[in-house]
Amino acid sequence: YIQADPIIIPDSFEGYPLRYFNLPLHYRDDLNYVLIPYGLVQDRIEALASRIFHDLTINIPEQLICICVLKGGYRFFSDLISKIQNENRLQNNRSLPMSLEFIRTRSYINDYSSNQLEIIGLSDLNNLKNRNLLIIEDIIDTGITMVALKEQLEKFQPKTIQVVSLFTKRRKDKQCIFKPDYCGFEIPDHFIVGYALDYNEYFRDLEHICILKESGVAKYKI
Ligand code: 5GP
Repeated sequence: YIQADPIIIPDSFEGYPLRYFNLPLHYRDDLNYVLIPYGLVQDRIEALASRIFHDLTINIPEQLICICVLKGGYRFFSDLISKIQNENRLQNNRSLPMSLEFIRTRSYINDYSSNQLEIIGLSDLNNLKNRNLLIIEDIIDTGITMVALKEQLEKFQPKTIQVVSLFTKRRKDKQCIFKPDYCGFEIPDHFIVGYALDYNEYFRDLEHICILKESGVAKYKI
């Protein structure tokens, strides 16, 4: 059975040298190494899609409301949904109908989490009462965003709320206050970019999950 818990990337993992990858010229000098190659991200998402599909179609399937947390979550959302759609095409005795919603959260300035969390688009969500929700998030760091978001969504009185996050971070200082139901990878306490995760709006247009060089951090600081 496919694991819902993350693949653990140990602190000792030094990543993959850049020279083995095709990287955009405009970011090559700003990166230190590749932490997780795009292909591995895709394989893990495919496995998560299959696990979610099997878990949520045990009973008569009800429409699942998939909530995309923009902007960082858009690639994961899109790939996860399309892989669940593949399951819908391939399995002929099970299916999982879905509807798609979009919200936006923002808490990061430079590479640290600020205390002010903005949630945009909640007022556009209607009809969540008695529905099954799946929140699709890119990364959980302190867990503050997810706790706040879940609290806001509870107000709509949904039947269930589940959370899938592509990454969680193993924090050095204190424990994360939120554990997702499904997770792709647990990473060391580094700031990651790529695959739609940004640093001040840069690096979303990079395929692999990478760690920045000091000079890259300085170059795009605001
Ligand atoms: P939390 O509230 O759990 O501390 O932070 C969650 C949000 O912070 C994520 O949705 C993401 O937008 C941002 N974030 C946390 N860690 C990282 C990181 O390593 N890289 C990037 N690009 N964003 C991060």
